[in-house]
Parts: sequence; C-alpha cells; structure tokens
Amino acid sequence: MNEEQLDDLIAYLKFPSVSTDSSHAGDVLECAEWLREKMASQGLEAAIHETAGHPVVVGRNNHIADRPTVMIYGHYDVQPADPLELWDSPPFEPRIEGGKIYARGSTDNKGQNLAHILGIGESIAAEGDLPVNVIVLVEGEEEIGSPNLELFLEQNKEDLACDIVAVSDTGMLAAGLGTFTYGLRGITCMELKVRGPAMDLHSGVFGGAVANPAMAAAKIAASLHGEDGRVAVEGFYDRVEQLQDWERENWARLPVPADETLDLTGAPGLFGEAGFTDTERRWARPTAEINGIGGGYQGEGSKTVIPAEAFVKFSFRLVPDQDPDEILGLVRVHCEKNTPPGVSVDYEFGHSGKSYVMDPQSGFGKAAQEALGKTFDGQPALIREGGSIPIVQTFRDVLGVDTLLLGLALPDCRIHSPNENFLIRNFFDGIRLNRNLLQALAQ
Ligand SMILES: [Zn+2]
Repeated sequence: MNEEQLDDLIAYLKFPSVSTDSSHAGDVLECAEWLREKMASQGLEAAIHETAGHPVVVGRNNHIADRPTVMIYGHYDVQPADPLELWDSPPFEPRIEGGKIYARGSTDNKGQNLAHILGIGESIAAEGDLPVNVIVLVEGEEEIGSPNLELFLEQNKEDLACDIVAVSDTGMLAAGLGTFTYGLRGITCMELKVRGPAMDLHSGVFGGAVANPAMAAAKIAASLHGEDGRVAVEGFYDRVEQLQDWERENWARLPVPADETLDLTGAPGLFGEAGFTDTERRWARPTAEINGIGGGYQGEGSKTVIPAEAFVKFSFRLVPDQDPDEILGLVRVHCEKNTPPGVSVDYEFGHSGKSYVMDPQSGFGKAAQEALGKTFDGQPALIREGGSIPIVQTFRDVLGVDTLLLGLALPDCRIHSPNENFLIRNFFDGIRLNRNLLQALAQ
C-alpha cells in the first residue's frame, strides 16, 4: 500500500464539492483547483475550463500521432451528504475502518477517478511516457445531470477528439471480480403539479363538492402500472429491444446470490415486471417510478382540509431504443387521460439521457476485458446496469466514440446514501487497472 496515494485520496475526499448546493460553490472550485494540481503533479498538462456552471478539469500527456487517444472521464462533484445524523462519522472527514474508507464521494466518484490519475502518474514515472495519448476529463456537474458538458464537448471537439472513452463509475459484481459494463439504462423525469381550489378548504364545509388534488395525484400515480408490474402507458414498450439469448444465459450464470436484491434493499419482498428475473428487471427492462408524492397537511394529528394542490415526481429508466422525449410525450398523454375532473395539472420536465449499449466483443471491448482479467486475475463478468450515465451517450453523439465502463463500486458501497464507502483495495486495484488498460489499448 502506497501511503502517499492514500493521503491523496483522503485530501480529495475532504472537499464538500456538492454540485447541487450553491452554498458549496466555493468548495467545488477549490476541489477543481486541487485536482488540477494533482494531475499536473502526475506529469499531465492540466487546466481548469470554465463553463456556465462548475468547471471542467482536463489533463493530457504529450500526444503523438499514430497512437490511440484514450479519454478517461470522471466527476469530482458529489451528492449532498444529508441526512447527516445517519452517518457514523462526518461525511467529509474520511474515516478508515475494516479496509474501507468512509466519506461522501469515496466511491462516487473521487476514489475511482483518482485511481486512474495516479495510475497515469505511476506509468509516467516508470516509463517516462504513456503507451497511448491520454485526455483526462473530470467534470463538476455529473450529480446534477451534466448540464454544461455537452456544450463543452462540442466547443472543444477537436481538442477532445479521441478513439475511446474509459470510465470507472459503475459497479463490480463482487470484490475481486472484474466487471465490464457494456450497457446502461437511460432516464427521463417529470413532475406533476395538481391544482384544485384557490386555497386549502374546510373539508366539512366544501368536502364532497370540490375535487381533491391529493386524490387526483394519487389516482394518476396509481394508473402508471398494471397488476402484472408492467408500465401501463400506451406505447411505452413499442421501441424496447428484446434481451439477447446470450445475455440472459450469461447473466443467469453470474455469481449473484439468489436473494441479493432482498438483502441489499431490506425490502420485505420483491415485485417487478412479470416474466423477467431480478437481474433482468434491474439492468435491462424499462421502469416507471414515483420518486416523491405529496400535498396537504403533513403535521401532527389531523387537520381537516382539502389541499389546494399536490405533486408527484416521476422518473423513467429507459432501454434501447426508447427515446426520452417520446416517452415523456406518451406519459403526458397517459396522465391527461387519467386525470379526474375538477383539477388542473401543470407538467414540468426534468433531465433526460438516452440508454447505451456497446458490443463487448469489439476491439476496444476485448482490450477492456483483457485489462480487467489481468488486474483481477480471471475472466471478467459482462453486465449491464440499471443506473444512467447520460454523458456516455453524449460521448457517442458528440465525439462519435464508445465508452468502456470499468467500475470499481461494490454492491454495499452506499453511493448517494449515508456511510458511503470505498474498499481501499479497489482504489489500489484501480491504479493497476489504469496501467493495464492503457497497455491493452495501445495494442
Ligand atoms: Zn452519483
């Protein structure tokens, strides 16, 4: 274990670089500056690039014609740490225990992108140069949907031209099992505001004669699924590509414990779309979820009102070849059809990203598998993931390249939750993975 590298990780994790909270804008900037200096100390030419939001930090080695150019992407921003009282130690004071480092951002994504940067530093220190041209791009807005990155890529298309992108921001099936993620679900979000009377009303005086927005919101929300767990929005599945036989067979053989989903979630039971395994439901089937629902009196005891308004927040996970805008249109039509009389509904659309699947047996895919095999000593698992990294599709759209997802996040790393942690072994494996990857990609 290299203490200096571990100290670098601790220093990086101390910045509360929470991108969504403007009171942390200064911390985000300081974190970007620290990162630029770290890249420079590893032998890269590094610069901070302003955007309309938080800056992007880009490092590069000396590019030589005739060798492949690899972009390493990551993000230095983190999710908010609340609820703070559920953390066993302060989220921005990294704590090491049982071979893990506990801090917000440890797995998502500072530990993983720093491993790549330090891997590059090791290669440069050992060989004097890297075997490939490298661009390291670490952004500060991933946790808020990367609102300025697409424009940044477009404006710097020539400087950022590359042959392949590599990202460590996905999961590993188990500790020590190299995992190559070749697909991600897309996402799209919307919020409904259901409005009724001009103010909260006395439910005795007016009840029975005025539509209740909370009831209407509940009715719309409940209309989203059928009893069989399928999304009931007309046309929702029309463009869904069926799972391939090799994927279903391959996934059935993966070393995933049968009750893993139950264990990880603590739910009393599981439910999902009929005809698919848990794994298939989580990785490769589209969903509709209610992320929040509310309205009316939330305090102690009862208060007899008809609320003036209520809200529902929806998100949809998408698979090839569903289009986020088309899905939002279909959902809106569905909601309008299921809105009871006497209320009005406002629709607000949130962030979107397309799903992504690449061929794991392409030349670059095979290089990724080779690097994982060498680092973790054995055949890597080939998986898809349920989460979304919309930027991966943007890399394809703007730069015309695929992305290799070589994640180091373990199932119990608690990203976005209290007590987020990163296995220290994975940090050092990530450093070796970077060296093996750049070598494999050079061929
Ligand atoms: Zn995240």
